[in-house]
Amino acid sequence: MNMKKPRLKEILHDYQLRVTPGRCDVLNHFLRSSYALSAKDLENRLPQYDRVTLYRTLHTFLEKGILHLIPHDGGFAYFGLSESIRLQLDNTARASSNTHYPDHIHFTCTTCGRTECLSDYMIPQVTLPQGYQIKDVDLLVKGICQACQV
Ligand SMILES: [Zn+2]
Ligand SMILES: [Zn+2]
Repeated sequence: MNMKKPRLKEILHDYQLRVTPGRCDVLNHFLRSSYALSAKDLENRLPQYDRVTLYRTLHTFLEKGILHLIPHDGGFAYFGLSESIRLQLDNTARASSNTHYPDHIHFTCTTCGRTECLSDYMIPQVTLPQGYQIKDVDLLVKGICQACQV
């Protein structure tokens, strides 16, 4: 099931990006996926594009805030769709592209290997010793996902 092209164009337009077939296809994959995707996943799913195009598209989406990088120790970087786009799709809120959302927890399943954004679960407040300054906090929780619990 493909997302309607106008919707993809609308999102690219919101983020001041020129509409290209590659950008539409990559964005469409993220919109349809409930879990995070790696560059490798995209290479497998979109064999019609060369690696350079896919990497450049991912990089552009990261820069614009359409995607966010998910910490991962598996050797691949994973990317998740930005919260403001998810909210727009859910129609729960009309979020603008520059709304700041607190960072959420990421979860990776040790059974199926899928990584996902737990968007409703925020990273708890972190306190550091005096003289230390926080710039960024990532939290990747490992465990067993709902689908893998038997
Ligand atoms: Zn799983
Ligand atoms: Zn995330």
